[in-house]
Amino acid sequence: MLLKSLREELVYLNQELPRNNLVTWTNGNVSIRDSETGYVAIKPSGVKFEDLSPENMVVVNLEGSIIDGDKKPSSDTASHLYIYRHRPAINGVIHTHSNYATAFAVLGQSIPVYLTAQCDEIGGPIPCGRFATVGGEEIGQAALDAIGDSPVVLLKNHGVFAIGPNGEEALKAAIMVEDIARTVWLAKTIGEPQEIPPEMVSRLHHRYTHEYGQEPDYRVQRNQTSKKES
Ligand SMILES: [Zn+2]
Repeated sequence: MLLKSLREELVYLNQELPRNNLVTWTNGNVSIRDSETGYVAIKPSGVKFEDLSPENMVVVNLEGSIIDGDKKPSSDTASHLYIYRHRPAINGVIHTHSNYATAFAVLGQSIPVYLTAQCDEIGGPIPCGRFATVGGEEIGQAALDAIGDSPVVLLKNHGVFAIGPNGEEALKAAIMVEDIARTVWLAKTIGEPQEIPPEMVSRLHHRYTHEYGQEPDYRVQRNQTSKKES
């Protein structure tokens, strides 16, 4: 089996979608790109999330030819590949129809910045791209045309595309957009929220991306310590 650990990671990432209530039935999909071969592993089409296994993931090249796997790849494969071909630094792509974010997408509305969490994670409004038909790469095109520097974009009448330098970052963006959309929705039911000014958005985003969390060295030290302890 080609790219076993990539396939295992992909099963984990796909199964995080139902765990986080981002998908229903077989909707939604994750793909990740292998940095060495450039191949992309993607969820098979129409297989339930609980039935996913490393064996039934599909490995394709950037042109969409199947390199390894018995199943048909996700019907959104061409759009995922369009994104990988045009964004070399992106190695994880996630598509969902998560409810609150998709409610904004249905209306063709981008989500302005009302929340400090959105300043931190997204660094600006969550854009909404045009309507595109399923099947070919039109959805990928519409997503990239609208996404700008954001890690996530809504697509009119459809759903969410989240991207990241790796699968975990794309997953975080897919989870965060739903959380943000839900809170904004709730706020709009009790009043009219006020946007955070763009200068403040940039300041908070910079602080979060440069100062928040642990230094990489700290994690290394922690791992070494825990190895010694065990
Ligand atoms: Zn879809």
